[in-house]
Amino acid sequence: MTRLLKIAAIVALVIMVWLMTPGGGVPILAYHQVSSVPEVYSIDSGQFEEQMRYLAIQGYTAISFADLFAARAGTQSLPPKPVIITFDDGYDDNYLTALPVMARYGLKSTVFVIAGQVGQPGYLTWDQIKNMQSAGTEFGSHTFSHVALNEISQPQLMDELTRSKQLLEQNLARPVDFFAYPYGQYNLDTIAALKQAGYTGACTGLPGLGTTTDDAYQLKRVNIPRPKYGLWEFRLRLVRAHLYAKLSLLRDRVIW
Ligand SMILES: [Zn+2]
Repeated sequence: MTRLLKIAAIVALVIMVWLMTPGGGVPILAYHQVSSVPEVYSIDSGQFEEQMRYLAIQGYTAISFADLFAARAGTQSLPPKPVIITFDDGYDDNYLTALPVMARYGLKSTVFVIAGQVGQPGYLTWDQIKNMQSAGTEFGSHTFSHVALNEISQPQLMDELTRSKQLLEQNLARPVDFFAYPYGQYNLDTIAALKQAGYTGACTGLPGLGTTTDDAYQLKRVNIPRPKYGLWEFRLRLVRAHLYAKLSLLRDRVIW
């Protein structure tokens, strides 16, 4: 009996170590606002700085979706500890507050813009977007009007995807290949429409890591809401994403 317990303890330890070691995926962090507005998707500039400093100290290199997809295609290799920092909706604090913080730590981001909101109060202007692009920020689409894509008609769906893409491409003078689903809502029709509209990949709200083998239109992210428990919460969210990545690897293998 004691021997059995010892074996069980060793097996449990091995499983723990396996689960805790990095899962070979890229954490894709999902932020919204960086401001003192006390809302769940708004994080204080001090908390944001603490998280960026942590990433820099831990040796993370911020990459773009273009980099990730070049790695997926085998035309580029990724740095040792890659991370993708994303912002949804395109708030002006991404430029005014987050960009200078990230610049201090040599980090860059991808902003998924609601194209129809550009220039509205509280949102980025085209000039700010162009300045961010010059500073190394990648831009993607978050639709034209931030509707839940599985609740609208097919023509409306195509309009949301193509109008936002065209407007961004006209203003940025470069292709816009990546997308984030508003409210994390999508289905097979949405994915088919994204392909038809010419997008290369899309981010969901599902927890986990971005990998080079996952479905390009169902990339998982690490949601970073306003922390209640400081930097520990941020660190735990990263660990949890690695755990999910490990477990889905296991699940994929079982199904396969
Ligand atoms: Zn959104």
